[in-house]
Amino acid sequence: MKNLVEEIEALKKERDAVILSHFYTPESIQNISDYVGDSYYLSRLAKELPQQTIVFCGVTFMAESAKILSPQKTVLLPDLTADCPMAHMATKEKIKAARDAYDDLAVVCYINSTSEIKEDVDVCVTSSNALKIIGNLPQKNIYFIPDQNLGAYLASQIPQKNFILNDGYCHVHQAFSVDSVKKAKEKAPLAKVLVHPEAPMAVLSMADYIGSTGGIIDYATKSDKNSFIVLTEEGILTQLKKNNPHKEFLTAQKEQICPDMKKITLEKIKAVLEDELIGVQVLDQVRAGAVKALDRMLELAE
Ligand code: SF4
Repeated sequence: MKNLVEEIEALKKERDAVILSHFYTPESIQNISDYVGDSYYLSRLAKELPQQTIVFCGVTFMAESAKILSPQKTVLLPDLTADCPMAHMATKEKIKAARDAYDDLAVVCYINSTSEIKEDVDVCVTSSNALKIIGNLPQKNIYFIPDQNLGAYLASQIPQKNFILNDGYCHVHQAFSVDSVKKAKEKAPLAKVLVHPEAPMAVLSMADYIGSTGGIIDYATKSDKNSFIVLTEEGILTQLKKNNPHKEFLTAQKEQICPDMKKITLEKIKAVLEDELIGVQVLDQVRAGAVKALDRMLELAE
């Protein structure tokens, strides 16, 4: 009798499916995935891989982005309620108001946003390519949505641009505080502090390294240091420990957890593969607008 993992493997072959997972998903999911990565890496893969069925282990905006970039493929999200609250923290009304207020404006949208918002923007970015893409845009004014923390960090790195910020945030990263970092540093004074730019500026100012999930893993893996305090969702520890079994990775808070990312389970992956569900759908009209912003990201990030 097959166990759950073997059943998933067999279903995957039967359906010509590939499993893509974000670094924040549970360890059991990352362990059975074909590819694990950050949003930029996964969105590129979803477009380039030959398999016609993608099981996307992450949240709605990720699966929708994969569907927008590859409309001919079936994209299965194992739990349709796994959603990113920050993705809903931008509005079409505010985008219009910004366009009315500034002539020389680019609306730049973090990929963590709904497909309907992507329809109205000039380009998408992820935390790993935002500096490069925004630095090369011709416009002086940048309306950055939805994350105010990532926007403030980018503004500090690209002073030649005038950033207009939105009021969205990720509740996981917003919860990091200067106090929690100080306490973690007291316990491990030699540890390097690695922070994702969705954290508030006061916390970023205490970092030895600021970067995307992929950037944090690269930094820790190449570093000659042995101890790190990691300030992002704790699912990243799976790959950090896998790549660096002899190094120490600490967190600053008891719970650094995104509950939506943790909704993905092995049972749900088996169920979506087994039931041959139709998968994530994006209205053609929405797709037509949103694909331009995502394609532009892939082109400018090259
Ligand atoms: S960790 Fe934050 S940004 Fe990422 S999916 Fe969860 S709520 Fe959204």
